[in-house]
Amino acid sequence: MSELPRNARGKLQHFRLREAIADERPIGPMKIAIVGGGPGGLYFAALMKQRNPAHHITLWERNAASDTFGFGIVFSEETLGGIGNADPVVAHYMSRRFARWRDIDIHFKGQTNTVRAQGFAAISRKELLELLQRRTLELGVDIRFSTMGPPVEELAANYDLVLAADGANSAIRAKYADSFKPSLDVRPNKYMWLGTNKVLEAFKYFVKETEWGVMQIHGYPYSDQGSTFIAEMSPDAWHAAGFDDTANDAFAPGVSNEKAVAKIRAIFADELGGHQVLTNNSKWVNFTTVRTKNWRNGNVVLLGDAAHTAHFSIGFGTKLAMDDALELADCLHEHAGVNAALEAYEAERRPMVESTQRAAQASMEWFENIDQYKDQDPAQFCINLLTRSRPYRP
Ligand SMILES: Cc1cc2nc3c(=O)[nH]c(=O)nc-3n(C[C@H](O)[C@H](O)[C@H](O)COP(=O)(O)OP(=O)(O)OC[C@H]3O[C@@H](n4cnc5c(N)ncnc54)[C@H](O)[C@@H]3O)c2cc1C
Repeated sequence: MSELPRNARGKLQHFRLREAIADERPIGPMKIAIVGGGPGGLYFAALMKQRNPAHHITLWERNAASDTFGFGIVFSEETLGGIGNADPVVAHYMSRRFARWRDIDIHFKGQTNTVRAQGFAAISRKELLELLQRRTLELGVDIRFSTMGPPVEELAANYDLVLAADGANSAIRAKYADSFKPSLDVRPNKYMWLGTNKVLEAFKYFVKETEWGVMQIHGYPYSDQGSTFIAEMSPDAWHAAGFDDTANDAFAPGVSNEKAVAKIRAIFADELGGHQVLTNNSKWVNFTTVRTKNWRNGNVVLLGDAAHTAHFSIGFGTKLAMDDALELADCLHEHAGVNAALEAYEAERRPMVESTQRAAQASMEWFENIDQYKDQDPAQFCINLLTRSRPYRP
């Protein structure tokens, strides 16, 4: 093949790969398109390149490298093993940046109940994305920041595999909705993803009865600089507090709803103890649970939030996206051909994803129905909150 011109060699290799896919023989270096540079897309790119540097991978991310939303991402210690074993470099980067703790504190009716848990680790989402970007770039992935992914049908025709890692509002999932059969369950509660420069020493739930209704904060540290501070409440409490006075489309992308933030700061002033509330494109959101019947359409495959979401109250979405990436990379290197690999990926991941979504559903509904528990004494309330999810098996 060495006497062929470069572009002809590429075409021949591509033709052979297509032939191999067709009869399910093991595949060689692949041409892969990834849409979305969140934790799922980036981690998949890194794992594929790490296993075979000859893969040709292009990743499109509509945002600039340094743009990101959200604050900390929490993982339970017991779920970190897979990530550590798959890419020691990523695991090493992550472990140096983790905030770690064991306690869960539940603040309710002026009392604090503390429970010792199995252990948590959290990292700022910005830092996680930075370290995954660094890793994929050093492995030779072609990342196109500030660029929308090309039309998916174009990608599907020109690449061996197209990964739709384009998040909960996936346009690729919508484009092939007939095939993926998504269901989008928009939940009633309102939440806002905020941060604080107060470094919390535990995973904290601040549950407060206000004059407008019950409001809760899900808070946990992510570094020695700050903590995640998610405000959540029922639509009744939200309307009663006057938070409905400004629609989200009144704010340009990237601009936070500062008026609402000032009110949250005032409501939780005691808990903040003079610390700031940090914003980053912070607006009221209704959580949407995404489920999909099928994860693949030909050589286009869904991963992470594009395929499934799990309510933030169980802190599992990033972990699910990264585990999807791990499984897909394994399957592509262990199975004969893309078809078999994609089938194995979905068969392997679906039970775990659905089990996690059931736990997330129970947790989410508990917080949606929190009014039912507000008259309980703090100890009983604490037990109820801690046992809100059906058991799942990681
Ligand atoms: C309030 C809140 C708190 C959370 N807390 C936690 C937590 O503690 N722990 C946890 O594990 N998870 C948490 N999650 C969930 C977590 O954020 C997601 O599950 C995770 O980010 C999913 O990763 P992903 O790569 O699938 O998608 P995303 O992170 O959403 O990445 C998708 C990327 O695709 C890009 N994109 C979209 N369309 C295009 C296009 N057409 N062209 C180019 N680029 C495109 C987007 O810009 C984005 O960067 C939380 C979520 C919320 C809402």
